[in-house]
Amino acid sequence: MRRLLMNPGPTNVHPSVRAAAFEAPDWCHRDLGFASKVQSVCSKLAAISGGQGRYDAVPFVASGTGANEAMISVVSGRMLVLVAGRYSERLWLIAQRLGVQASRLDFSPLSGVDCASVAQALIKDPQITDICLVHHETTTGVLAPLPELGQLARSFKVGLLVDGISSIGGHDFDLCRDSVAMATVTANKCLESLPGISFLLASREVLQTTQGKSRSFYFDVHEQWSRTAASGKTPFTAAVSLFFAADVALDRLLAETVRGRAHRYRRLKQRLERELLTLGFSLVAVPEDRKANILTLARLPSYWNYNELYEALMREHITIYTDEVTLSQGMVFFATMGDLHEADLDRFVDALARFGRQRGSASLPIGVCTPL
Ligand SMILES: *Cc1c(COP(=O)(O)O)cnc(C)c1O
Repeated sequence: MRRLLMNPGPTNVHPSVRAAAFEAPDWCHRDLGFASKVQSVCSKLAAISGGQGRYDAVPFVASGTGANEAMISVVSGRMLVLVAGRYSERLWLIAQRLGVQASRLDFSPLSGVDCASVAQALIKDPQITDICLVHHETTTGVLAPLPELGQLARSFKVGLLVDGISSIGGHDFDLCRDSVAMATVTANKCLESLPGISFLLASREVLQTTQGKSRSFYFDVHEQWSRTAASGKTPFTAAVSLFFAADVALDRLLAETVRGRAHRYRRLKQRLERELLTLGFSLVAVPEDRKANILTLARLPSYWNYNELYEALMREHITIYTDEVTLSQGMVFFATMGDLHEADLDRFVDALARFGRQRGSASLPIGVCTPL
């Protein structure tokens, strides 16, 4: 039975994506056949994120955090980090660790980034050269208002650096329209490929300015970009088979279209919301116009225990995951992302209902009999 991944990444992938990795030929990462695969993946990525012709994708053999580190490591001015959840907190930590000059602006995670406060911060500190944020905070399901932030970035002439790791491919995202300087994405979320590679998308104009700037050797953006853009030959050993998988995954995304995928995700999420209410969950309110397509934040019905639910679902080959901080606040989340369809949601909802029935009878006080 196929394991269902209801956690926010890695996701279920289509069998053809996995097969592409297994059947990948034995290429050296310096072989021309492989180089053209890298270039194919990179140009498809630029196309699905609205950057065709003006932006390049720079690949890294790393999870999404590696691409974030690459992006932040080339910031040479003063960066404002918009902190509205666990992942944007990490961007702040990376900046601290790399010694990037940075200040932070905090927002309530359940309402997200507020543009008026960002504008005020930019007026107050004219030294700020870049704003860095997470587009979709994957622990709350709240999106940042990228079009408005793009307008701010244009009028204040600052760079917009976006962690788009759990949004690109499954949400409205347009590098050119929103004047994004750099953005990051990983293979194993809305792109529906296998984990292990991630990408920095950046305008060529910005990439030209990154020479000699990186604080990291391995994640040197200019080194990686100039080599792969020119020849497709990555400076270090690439995860060869994962590029074969990503190429097939991106073909699938181009066929489904980003808009089509966003629609499928949103439909699954809306149905999950209805089913959870029926099962006795309560949904945690987030602003309607900021709702992402892939994450549902809820409170378990009383008498349900998260660890028991996790184990019961595990026995049915279903994975859920909620981070400790969210759990400690009495909330859980489920992700409806990846190669997931109505029938998979049926299976998940049935498993939840079965758990609920067992809990219901188990939680009756001793001495109370169920009516015949
Ligand atoms: C998943 C994710 C990351 C990176 O996580 P990795 O485990 O390094 O792949 C970063 N930011 C966001 C918003 C994410 O959803």
